[in-house]
Amino acid sequence: MIKANDPALKSWVEVPENSDFPIQNLPFGIFKTDYMEAGAGVAIGEHVLDLTYLHENGFLDGLSLPAGVFNQRWLNDFIGLGKKVTSRVRERISELLRHDHDELRDNKPARELALIPMDEAEMLMPVKVPNYTDFYSSIEHATNVGTMFRDPKNALLPNWRHIPVGYHGRASSIVPSGVSIKRPNGQTKPPEAERPSFGPSGRLDFELEMAFITCMENGLGNAIPTHKAEDHIFGFVLFNDWSARDIQVWEYVPLGPFLAKNFASSISPWIVTMDALEPFRTSGPEQVPEVLPYLQYKGDKNFDIHLQVYLQPEGGEENLICNSNFKYMYWNVNQQLAHHTVNGCNVQVGDMYASGTISGPAPDSYGSMLELAWKGTKPLKLSNGEERKFVQDGDTVIMRGFGMKGNVRIGFGEVKTKVLPADQAQVTG
Ligand code: MN
Repeated sequence: MIKANDPALKSWVEVPENSDFPIQNLPFGIFKTDYMEAGAGVAIGEHVLDLTYLHENGFLDGLSLPAGVFNQRWLNDFIGLGKKVTSRVRERISELLRHDHDELRDNKPARELALIPMDEAEMLMPVKVPNYTDFYSSIEHATNVGTMFRDPKNALLPNWRHIPVGYHGRASSIVPSGVSIKRPNGQTKPPEAERPSFGPSGRLDFELEMAFITCMENGLGNAIPTHKAEDHIFGFVLFNDWSARDIQVWEYVPLGPFLAKNFASSISPWIVTMDALEPFRTSGPEQVPEVLPYLQYKGDKNFDIHLQVYLQPEGGEENLICNSNFKYMYWNVNQQLAHHTVNGCNVQVGDMYASGTISGPAPDSYGSMLELAWKGTKPLKLSNGEERKFVQDGDTVIMRGFGMKGNVRIGFGEVKTKVLPADQAQVTG
């Protein structure tokens, strides 16, 4: 067992009950404050542990860390050191935070400088993302969409059970929690219209996803087999793949999503390490028919992570509208990475690979408004009496996720995004 995951560990830093960030989690992120430049930190309870401070003051000696590795705008250089090093750093941080370890606990000046209250910290993008890929790996989601738009009897396309289907998305428009997005303008054509028209999307939607972040290159021309995939995966974030359904429907044939997706994607800012998620491993669904040899794998490769979506109308309260779970994924991350690289495609440090919308079997576990309100035919009722078929201007969408085992809760924090009105100047010219 990984020492830092021991459920018996306690920290001298106060961790409220039901916190996402107990000592067994220790996720990495990039933060800044009014008085400090951007740098790397680790979440513990309601504090951020300043890694630059720890490193510069000798608390992380002997871990082969290059000078200045935490005093940066991104985590890419740190995670690029490889999991042997980053796992050791997490173990050392765990040691420093243990209630029975006095090194930092009893050094009052150091402790006060190293721990920053979370409400003073602004979380930034944790990595610079060179490439972003979005998969389509939930069988329930693919079946729901196929049922709505094609044929309930042949909801899954013939390739779906053989290929972890995906497309290359846009890395430049990935933003962290707290950054508001504008409703996109674009070209749409309702089936009954003769010609397309231009204007704000009328069917703005979220997609509940998780994304993994790669930390080791394979080099152009070199495939990553399923049994080596985890050496390349540093950790996970929550991922909201914003989608404009009306733009998507008109543009996506023959080359797939384009402007319906590339205007924004939102992520939770703390990267929860693969190490911290070890206790939540679980088996995936049985794959029938048997997949090709390069997609076969051994062991538990799914993760039992509860996922929730809340919609908060302007001035109103949060409404829980979806309860799903990462464990429902038909294709696991090892298979996704093996498939992505089987042709020799090279992954880069900081790349994001999103799961695709994570829907479960029950109607309240569907991971998009498209499915929850079933193409607008079953509007969601909100606590303030309003209804929603899609996301409206002023709405805030919040996604949360956590694993729970015994008394240990490993959480992801949240990705919270407000939708602003579309740019009208573009429409009127
Ligand atoms: Mn998606």
